Amino acid sequence: MLDIARVRADFPILSRQVNGKPLVYLDSGASAQKPQVVIDTITRAYSEDYSNVHRGLHTLSSISTENYEAVRGKIASFLGAASEDSIVMNSGTTEGINTVAYGWAMPRFEPGDEIVLSIMEHHANIVPWHFLRERQGAVLKWVDIAADGSLDPQAVIDAIGPKTKLIAITHMSNVLGTVVDVKTICQAARERGVAVLIDGSQAAVHMTVDVEDIGCDFYAVTGHKLYGPSGSGGIYIRPERMAEMRPFMGGGDMIREVRRDGIDYNSPPMKFEAGTPGIVQQIGLGAALDWMTALGMDNIAAHEADLRDYASQSLAGLNWVSVQGTAPGKGAMFSFTLEGNGHPHDISTVLDKRGIAVRAGQHCAGPLMDHLGVAATTRASFAVYNTRDEVDALVDALHLCHELFA
Ligand code: PLP
Repeated sequence: MLDIARVRADFPILSRQVNGKPLVYLDSGASAQKPQVVIDTITRAYSEDYSNVHRGLHTLSSISTENYEAVRGKIASFLGAASEDSIVMNSGTTEGINTVAYGWAMPRFEPGDEIVLSIMEHHANIVPWHFLRERQGAVLKWVDIAADGSLDPQAVIDAIGPKTKLIAITHMSNVLGTVVDVKTICQAARERGVAVLIDGSQAAVHMTVDVEDIGCDFYAVTGHKLYGPSGSGGIYIRPERMAEMRPFMGGGDMIREVRRDGIDYNSPPMKFEAGTPGIVQQIGLGAALDWMTALGMDNIAAHEADLRDYASQSLAGLNWVSVQGTAPGKGAMFSFTLEGNGHPHDISTVLDKRGIAVRAGQHCAGPLMDHLGVAATTRASFAVYNTRDEVDALVDALHLCHELFA
């Protein structure tokens, strides 16, 4: 069991007030707050050790390179990857998925080749595939979810046809909290020679991930949701797939030699990391992963399961609140609408006046919103530092919204 008061004490921002009220931060699905160790690591990296990486022979450059490169191994072990060489470091999931779209998919897609997607993907796992549709005649095949927001892995497997080359699917919906059985999908896809890209932006924050066990080809994560800095992240790429990829961006660091008449690439994964990277952001991410690992992913998951159950019960008691997504085993994430004329933006504003931060809108999930038949929702997303008291604060404030907007 985690001591949540101690966990909270690691986050300086959680002791501030917003609009005269203690901050209740329920927007970690958008971006998580940062523990002191991450802030200190960033400060130290800039104030004591800063230099560019991979380029200099001087002491600071060696220290910076060592600290930066150490993060590759931390991401690998956090994701259960057998080798750190299968991790391409980047600015986050969006860059990771685009690296695969440009580097792996574009060279091998013929007109009519298919990508299977679930209806609950984030735009980051939709738009790059629309590029393939627009530019190369790829076909996007959408798999629907059930009424409770769950996704039947068999429905994804059934969508695989002779022209399917890739399944691009979320591990956890950023709107519904639905957790997808990606392992079953990956097993079937492998038997059929279809690659699977998993958007792990949300899942990796809340549960143990083991890419070798899942059997995926690509697994993308984003550092700012993992309690790390914005502009940090990484993607696991199965070695066979990495060998098939061509670089997405060109520039320094990803080449060994540049001549007038040609270039020699650096060896993977560096081949896929062009230019000066987010050095300090990445070093900060390393500190965040260490912090999460020390807490223990099982402990994090257990605490968040308690918050999920408590919030589910509390919200179920409000018959004027409709929660979208009630799939068993979902994450502690609640998108909802209220009876009456309260737009999610208005609800969010009322909550903010009480110090409660939530997200309102489409959550970068246009096709899901269409499927659900809602223009927008309010989303409360929980993290390891949240408490049952904060669920109560949300429920109290929702009563006020109900009075105002009924
Ligand atoms: N995928 C999911 C499920 C997300 O929730 C997000 C962020 O909200 C992303 C992808 C995009 O992450 P980033 O903007 O950090 O690249």
